[in-house]
Amino acid sequence: PLPFLFTRRRLHQPYNSLTESDVQIFSEILGHNPSLLLQASDPIVHAASTDWTGHYWQAPARLLLRPQTTAQISALLAHCHQRRLPVVPQGGKTGLVGGSVPTVAHEEIILQLQYLNQITALDPVLGIVTCQAGVVLENLQDYCANHSWLVPLDLGAKGTCQIGGNLATNAEGPYFRKYGCLAGNVLGLEVVLADGRILDYNYRLSNNMKDNTGYKWHQLFLGSEGTLGIITGVTLACAPLPRSKQAAFVACSSYDQVLLVLQKAKQYLGEILAAMEFMDAAIWKLVEASGRHQMPLSVETILSESAVQEGGPFFLLIDTHGSNANHDQEKWQTFLEAVQDDILNGVLAQDIKQYQSFWQIRESANPTVAQLGYTYKYDVSLPIAQFQDWIQEMRLERLGPLARNESSSLVNANWGHILDGNLHFNVTTIGKREVQKDVLDALEPYLFHSILKRGGSISAEHGLGQAKNHLLPSVHDEHTLDLMRSLKALLDPRMILNPGKFLPAK
Ligand code: FAD
Repeated sequence: PLPFLFTRRRLHQPYNSLTESDVQIFSEILGHNPSLLLQASDPIVHAASTDWTGHYWQAPARLLLRPQTTAQISALLAHCHQRRLPVVPQGGKTGLVGGSVPTVAHEEIILQLQYLNQITALDPVLGIVTCQAGVVLENLQDYCANHSWLVPLDLGAKGTCQIGGNLATNAEGPYFRKYGCLAGNVLGLEVVLADGRILDYNYRLSNNMKDNTGYKWHQLFLGSEGTLGIITGVTLACAPLPRSKQAAFVACSSYDQVLLVLQKAKQYLGEILAAMEFMDAAIWKLVEASGRHQMPLSVETILSESAVQEGGPFFLLIDTHGSNANHDQEKWQTFLEAVQDDILNGVLAQDIKQYQSFWQIRESANPTVAQLGYTYKYDVSLPIAQFQDWIQEMRLERLGPLARNESSSLVNANWGHILDGNLHFNVTTIGKREVQKDVLDALEPYLFHSILKRGGSISAEHGLGQAKNHLLPSVHDEHTLDLMRSLKALLDPRMILNPGKFLPAK
């Protein structure tokens, strides 16, 4: 029986434990620089082992590596591959599905990308930028803006997330409709495979806008959440920096009015319409109560003056990007005239400072609920016309019975990129930091089934990580899952990259 037991053990425990000799080899690769190799007792490792939401925390990782070059990553991975040591790549750690932190089952080494932070080229004529994966998104945006180019991605976590993390999660933000998806703007990519091989897709030949010479393998890595390879560099096509920006917040009494305003914004603002963001009354009130923002409209004032649909008033942040302020002003004027009977109230930003403050209100939605307590976050897409109907379904059928027991501690607050049919549905248990089983059971799996039944997606932009990977079998058929597993086996045969994330266990 002994050999049988031995085989079983190996099948169930495919990874080796880290040894002193592994640490010595890593240290050598990193030039014996102590700031690039940190062990569990270091507070930095402690912080790196829990995610932005605080939901995913097991114990400090045994080791954290901070390579400075692609060659170092290649050598580190070659050793991990050879020794079967699992690795979790970590960018800015702003992911919301627990993808960038170790799991209790695997004891991964954390591989941080933050020192690959060079912007290496910007073509001033074409607006093509080449940079390393660890560049913080906002730094890349600022650099490109200084040269009159716009990075075709923006999101609330821009001050912390890295372009490599954005690519690994295939992040999208409010400007998806205006500037296209991130993947569509990627012209080149550098990736290190699990065994240390370095792949280069037009990364060094940065100005190739068209290339039809083979499989577009680089696209596989976008959205693969660190399970197929480590992204180390990218070449991105930027858009011209808009010379004219304008934004308004409008309040609507019903969701039908929201849809009408959306339709008219598309018709009247046309090509300059850049983003349209939805916030319901609950999130508006929470942001207002945080006291950190000068709110242009007040829920209480609106409610005292008008009758609104349950969940309302509803707020829309409408943003335009153009190249000629006079032209844009004319468009805004005709748009505002067209919607004056469809809205309760509206405020047009008076200058760029107010424009920015409008966006800060919208972007503070996530941190505001995160500070209040444990938040059950659902990033879903569904037909735009159904947002409010679905929210009401969840409130009545799932949260209603709970709210009667815990009325003071449960808040449902929602916002989203309405132009893309992307809703962020959030349930926060105020003052509580742990998962409440009754709340979770009320929401899951019912919520996911209900989204799928309506033809939506259970993860519109945040990905799967360890929060949603178990749901893949209800989304994709067995052939698709087999294909995904085959790709994983081909690119990472020893399964060392980000185990326990993205793909469900067979
Ligand atoms: P991390 O969180 O560090 O990692 C995310 C995943 O990518 C992990 O699986 C990790 O292993 C992997 N990874 C990281 N870097 C690499 C690399 N170089 N190579 C391979 N794998 C890697 N997301 C949106 O899509 N749209 C939004 O509008 C949006 N708004 C947000 C607002 C706030 C306030 C917050 C906190 C988050 C928001 N997010 C949003 C989620 C998050 O910011 C994105 O998922 C972001 O792209 C993650 O980047 P990161 O560098 O923080 O990656």
